[in-house]
Amino acid sequence: MKCEICPHNCEIPENCYGFCGARKNLGGSVICDNFGKITSIAIDPIEKKPLYHFFPGSKILSVGSYGCNMKCGFCQNFEISQRKPRWDYISPEELIKMAVNTSQNIGVAFTYNEPTIGYEYVAACAKLLKQADFKVALVSNGQINASALERLAPLVDAWNIDIKAWNADFYRRHGGDFETACRAVELAAQTAHVEVTTLIIPGENDSDFEIAETAKWLATLSRETPYHLSRYFPRYKYDAPPTPKDTLFRLAEVAKRYLKNVYVGNV
Ligand code: SF4
Repeated sequence: MKCEICPHNCEIPENCYGFCGARKNLGGSVICDNFGKITSIAIDPIEKKPLYHFFPGSKILSVGSYGCNMKCGFCQNFEISQRKPRWDYISPEELIKMAVNTSQNIGVAFTYNEPTIGYEYVAACAKLLKQADFKVALVSNGQINASALERLAPLVDAWNIDIKAWNADFYRRHGGDFETACRAVELAAQTAHVEVTTLIIPGENDSDFEIAETAKWLATLSRETPYHLSRYFPRYKYDAPPTPKDTLFRLAEVAKRYLKNVYVGNV
């Protein structure tokens, strides 16, 4: 059985999981094994996603499950992305009830782990949220095939998508595909609000050249595209010290040559 959600296009043997650890071949069908299995839930300020230009000042119910279709050694959320922690089942109907009953909440953000590998859960919840006139946001690594993204796109109001590096080899080393990430940003921007994030890791993706190229490309979509440079902290398999604040501010100045809305996060 083949899963066609992301560029891994896993051929999954019976009773086995795909690369992401969240989708499985069960009885000859690929199922979303993490459907409704929520490992993290919080009411967050929308700016924490980060989404700075989408209902600023509001709050959004934020949920995550487990699994990821990349294997970044520097993952800042590895406890849920690379492991299968304890979870609580929350059905789409229950999640919508929670969203409706949370005061000042504008909707649901699917975040913390990669939401698109839980495609069926996101789609089921998003349909109900739209019916209730609530917003749907996704925080994604952009590793989703165009066909799957196009099916999901009408249900999504806002995305924050990573461009992890302007470097195809960086993506390959960490289990992803650079072209797919860029294509996801382009497609998502056709139907929804999009902001983009790069986690700046010392010695990995912190050259002026890479940030200039990323910003130049984003400017071809719109000079208004919000671009977030966020600070790496040692996590998971990486023990290098946190990104120096000076590096982040220097790179922000580089990006501002091309973009109007550049932000530095986690400093
Ligand atoms: S979503 Fe998971 S199972 Fe499907 S192709 Fe991607 S890594 Fe493989």
